[in-house]
Parts: sequence; structure tokens; C-alpha cells
Amino acid sequence: MAPRLLVLADPSDTRTRTEVIDVAVRIGYNVRCAPTLGEALEAAGVLVARARASLAAGGGDDVGGSMASSVPMECDAAQLCLQDQNNKFYDVVVAKLGAAPKSPRDDPLLSASGADLLRLIRLFHGGRRTFFLLCSSTASRDARARFSLFNDGIMHVPTGGGGGTGAVESGGCNMISDDPHAVAEALRKVAWVHGKKLSPVGKTFSCQWCGMEGLDEDALVEHCDLYHTNEPGRRRRHPPVRVDVHPVLLRSIDWGQIMGRPPSFGHCPICGDPSPHGLLRHLHNAHGPRGRGDLPSEFGHKPPRLHSYSLVVCIYEDRMLLVQERSSDGFWLPGGHVDPGEGLEAAALRETAEEAGVEVTLTGVLKVQYRPHESGESVRLRVIFMAQPKNLSEFPRCKTLPDYESCGAAWIKTEEIVAGAIPLRSPEPITWAKYLREEREVHSLGVLSNIEC
Ligand SMILES: [Zn+2]
Ligand SMILES: [Zn+2]
Repeated sequence: MAPRLLVLADPSDTRTRTEVIDVAVRIGYNVRCAPTLGEALEAAGVLVARARASLAAGGGDDVGGSMASSVPMECDAAQLCLQDQNNKFYDVVVAKLGAAPKSPRDDPLLSASGADLLRLIRLFHGGRRTFFLLCSSTASRDARARFSLFNDGIMHVPTGGGGGTGAVESGGCNMISDDPHAVAEALRKVAWVHGKKLSPVGKTFSCQWCGMEGLDEDALVEHCDLYHTNEPGRRRRHPPVRVDVHPVLLRSIDWGQIMGRPPSFGHCPICGDPSPHGLLRHLHNAHGPRGRGDLPSEFGHKPPRLHSYSLVVCIYEDRMLLVQERSSDGFWLPGGHVDPGEGLEAAALRETAEEAGVEVTLTGVLKVQYRPHESGESVRLRVIFMAQPKNLSEFPRCKTLPDYESCGAAWIKTEEIVAGAIPLRSPEPITWAKYLREEREVHSLGVLSNIEC
């Protein structure tokens, strides 16, 4: 049984044919094309005449009165347009954005746009099991359009028998793209999940968002990552976008199914975990390949220890301030470990005073180096500051009294350092002396900021 794809676009369009249809056929999809919703209805074997008759009977915008009598027929039409002739749901619907051409009769069912169809898919029974892919360069590049089409789907609906209205949320697109590689990858992933349903490994589960059944552990994880990344969490920052739905479409809604939409922070269908950080995050990290340790997981590892160092390249005229290290190790840059609770700049000032006996002003940043240890257990952060003595009016004295921090310090001509004439702990002072002689870039101190924006 091949996965089924409905393409709501003109199949004679070159890009649609090469980037969607040909790719899907190669993957193994059973593909149908329908440039408009009307043709989608016909493709699904619905008698368009019946839909028209139903529309005529339903009248204009009156939702309440004629609802009971028109529900069965409208349900029929709305559901069938998303099912193929064997009465199976399409696995994927690919649509192009843009209003469909108006039909001569201005018939809302037959001239619905891709966005109308999206609402329809999301509102009828089982529609969330269909992966809705909108191919649009406009929408994929426009942040607001992209956001609203993903969130599209809160609408006023009649509630109970009292004639009041409530708001119902139904979700939006699963994907918006104009990248043929991404479209092909999505089609492959949906087909992979479809294939896993046919031959699951071990126990199977149902998706608690869309109700898709028969998914083994790996298929459930892949399915949720692909279909449900946009499910709202506990702290919802943006309300869903409100949309207008034509009353004819409203009548095709299976209310019970919609009202029962579960939240995204329910218990895990595999292990029953209450997933306080969100079900999607739990499923992705605790189950499937990450749960088995085949891929890196966000769970179950300690964050690496951070070792931070501030180093100072302090220049006065043509000289660099270097510290004479303990144990005859040679000369080196002032600097050292950043103490707990201390900032990078404060550590640079403190270390220069302790090791070299000079009060300095930081003037810039030469480099920020972040090096994770290959074990993954620790990481080293080094910031190399540029500085000058605070007092520039006379030749600045430096430390001569030996202590635990150092034997003392000296102002050394950079040409002597570059020439290799000075015993050094490591060649790093040569690197920075050359760097400055070549007048290479010194970054503003503003690149380091402890203020969060
Ligand atoms: Zn699902
Ligand atoms: Zn679980």
C-alpha cells in the first residue's frame, strides 16, 4: 500500500512537476493532482452536483438553522475531498499559496484557495493526520505570513444548542517551503513513517495529537518531530491566528474530534512520563534512537565544566608587559583563571595587578577562544584583552617583589619578543607582538557584554 499524495496545483507547471510530482513518484507515492478544490472534489469521486445542491439548500450565511439537515452531506463532501477513491486519507497534501480562480457561480466550495483547504483539512475528522505542505516562496520568506500560516486555525464556532459561539483551535500548516531539497526530504520522511506503520517493530502506539495509530517507537518519534513541532506549550507566547471560515465549511466539522484536541504536555504514550518540559522534547530525547543512545540526546549528560581565563596584552610605547613566571618557566602574558562570580574584565584587571603590579585600562579584545575538550566533559574559554597602563604620564613601574603569583614583571621591546630573544613559557607573546606590529584588528570591548538583550 503506497503512501498517498494530493497535489493542489496545476500539474503542467514545470516546478510542480519536477520538484513535487516526479520526486514523489520516485519515492513511491500514489499521486493525484487537483488545481482547485472543485477538482479535488472531483478527483475524490464526489458528485459536484451534490455539493452544489447542498450549498443551495444551506443558503447564505445562516449557520444555525439549517445545520442539522445539511451536516451529513457537507461532511461527505469535505471529507471526501481529502480522501482518495478508496476512501483513504491522503498522507500528504501539497498546496500552492494564492486564491484559486473564482468559479463562474462564485461557489465557495469549488473556488476555495489553498488556505481555505488547509482550514478544511484541519477541521474535519482525522485531518491532522495529513501532512500539509505549503509550497510558497512568498510565505516561506515572510516571517509574519509564515508564523500565521503555521498557527492558522482558531475560529468562531457554534457551541451546544444555545446559539452561542466559542473559539476552537485546529492547527495550521506542517511545513512552508520553496526549497525542493526540503520538500523531497519531507516526502521521504512521511513515506518512511508510512512504511513503518505497515511493518512496525515491537509495540505500537497512537499519536496523542492527531490520533495516528500503529506507530512503533521510532515511527512515533519521527512522526511527532515532523508533524507536531508547532504544538503550543504550557507557556503560550502568541495567541493562535483567527481565521474566517465560510459557514458551508463550518457545517462539515466533526465537533467531538476538535473539542477533544489534547494539549502538548500530556503523559508520554510510551512510558507514561508526565513530560513536564513538553511531550515533544521528551519523545525526541528519551525514546527512539536518542533513547537507545544511538544519537546524542539532550537528556542524561552533565553539562561540561567551563574553565574561563582572561589574558592581557598590555602595550606601552613599543613595549609589552610580560610576567616573569615562577620556577624559571620564562616570561608570559599577565592573566589567569576567572574566579567564581567574577567577570572576564575584572579578572583581567586583577591578574595584571597581582602578577605584573600594573594598574591597567582595558582598551579592546584581540580574541575570544572557546575550545571544548574532546571528552566533552570540559570546555576552555579564553579572552585575550588589549590594555594600556592607567598612568601614561611616566614610564610605568612594574612588580619586582616576588610572591606566589610571580617573580616579577618587565616591559619588553616587542622587536626583542618577535626576534625570539626572550625566554618564554610558550610562544603566545610572539603571536600577539606580531599581530600588533601588523596592525591587525582590535575589537571593541562591547563584543563582551554581561547584559542580556
Ligand atoms: Zn500526530
Ligand atoms: Zn516516554
